[in-house]
Amino acid sequence: MKIGILGFQGAFVEHERHIGRLGYEPVVVRYPQQLDDLDGIILPGGESTTMGKLLCCTGMLEPLRNKIQEGLPVWGTCAGMILLAKKLENDPVRHLALMDITVKRNAYGTQIDSFDVSVEIPKVSPDPIPLVFIRAPYITESGANVEVLCKVEGHIVAARERHLLATSFHPELTDDSSFHRYFAEMCKKRE
Ligand code: GLN
Repeated sequence: MKIGILGFQGAFVEHERHIGRLGYEPVVVRYPQQLDDLDGIILPGGESTTMGKLLCCTGMLEPLRNKIQEGLPVWGTCAGMILLAKKLENDPVRHLALMDITVKRNAYGTQIDSFDVSVEIPKVSPDPIPLVFIRAPYITESGANVEVLCKVEGHIVAARERHLLATSFHPELTDDSSFHRYFAEMCKKRE
């Protein structure tokens, strides 16, 4: 199974390592034609404004949006969640605008307000999962078809809408592969 990782910027190498460790083939994606034979794609953390601009100027935005609309499973971590959101609370710009969530950017404050916690998410793993938040967004509103997977301090930080997965935090920066395994299962079940 081939899992793409958008490789413009941000934490894509770390995702590559997790996917490889689980026995799947990671593909760093920078060109539209690479989207054709993927079983899923990860949009990594980084800087959503920069990634959004790069998606536009490389001609990737529309092909990527089309593939996801056709059913390609996608997982956005942190900035990737921002790229997926249909609505941003504190930014007039939208990017892929595919997932029925409203997201607040930098919701916890600046870089020094970054933190980590360990949380049980039974749908993802039987063991507590370490969650790393770096200038993280969270979800302030979610549509009727969005399944909330995890809340931290009352805020939604992980959610799924059919083949779209979004997390505020960075599983790729920990040794825990639970979320990568969960996403790989979504890719296997692709309709
Ligand atoms: N604050 C960043 C943004 O708005 C996201 C941070 C991250 O991906 N770690 O794009």
